[in-house]
Amino acid sequence: MILLILERSIRKVYRVRGGFNQRELDISFLVKAIGGPRLLYALQKSLRLASVSTIMRHHRIPKLIPSIGTPNKKEITSNIRSFFTPEIKPLPSFPNCSQLPGNVMMFDGVSLNPFLRYCAQRNAILGLCREHSKRVNTEVESLESLEIVRKALAETDKKSETRVCYGSDATVVAIAPYANEKHYTAVPIVASPTDKSESGLEFAEWLEIVLEAWRTDPNGEAMYGPIWSIESDGDGVFRLAKFTICMVQEVDRNSPLGRILEGCLGINRYTSKHGVIPGSDLKHVAKREFY
Ligand SMILES: [Zn+2]
Repeated sequence: MILLILERSIRKVYRVRGGFNQRELDISFLVKAIGGPRLLYALQKSLRLASVSTIMRHHRIPKLIPSIGTPNKKEITSNIRSFFTPEIKPLPSFPNCSQLPGNVMMFDGVSLNPFLRYCAQRNAILGLCREHSKRVNTEVESLESLEIVRKALAETDKKSETRVCYGSDATVVAIAPYANEKHYTAVPIVASPTDKSESGLEFAEWLEIVLEAWRTDPNGEAMYGPIWSIESDGDGVFRLAKFTICMVQEVDRNSPLGRILEGCLGINRYTSKHGVIPGSDLKHVAKREFY
């Protein structure tokens, strides 16, 4: 059924002989992304879709580098530079305001299929949880090094110091602007497998690195605006991390904002060391309120 709809759409938009218009390229790209290169090859022959090489020439696809262990600044910076460039994400334009509007940094867990993959770019194993992957050498050096990882995965004693496990969830950190009506999509900058044994304090430690990477990278805050808040659902680990980071300094009582806040009884006046505040996913707040 999907193929039938696809075929009709393709026939409808195929107009240019010897070239491809943007819609045809987009459909060819979707066929490759959803059905894989073999389906694209079949449809290229039968319906004259664009080939893989043509798609690659016309589409610059940013790549998210998943973290092998605990996310580090190099991986985060690489992802920021891959997604946050005017070619991929148009710059915010606010002609009446000299200051760029802020962003929300949000995070949540996404369920993972528990198996390992090979990362050709780094010649390393992907898919081990960040809590335990440091116990083995994740670089693929030889068959023996892979055998060590296999044995560590097969270890049944949960207290063993050599045991490693698959990541059951990927913690995804994404950034979305507060005031951009056209390009408001959340863009991921971290994907890191976890077995969910990490504490809130450990999570806060690497989340600080993500905030720092955004603040200091030329493709981050300088081009797309600062992070104003970090937000998540009500997960205990996420909440502890948010409040660990965002309960560091009080808004100056003598500043214009401080003077306003002083009149608001019961309001939390604490922020992170760079003024970031914690927030909650609105739908979870609504759930508590109405159900
Ligand atoms: Zn683990």
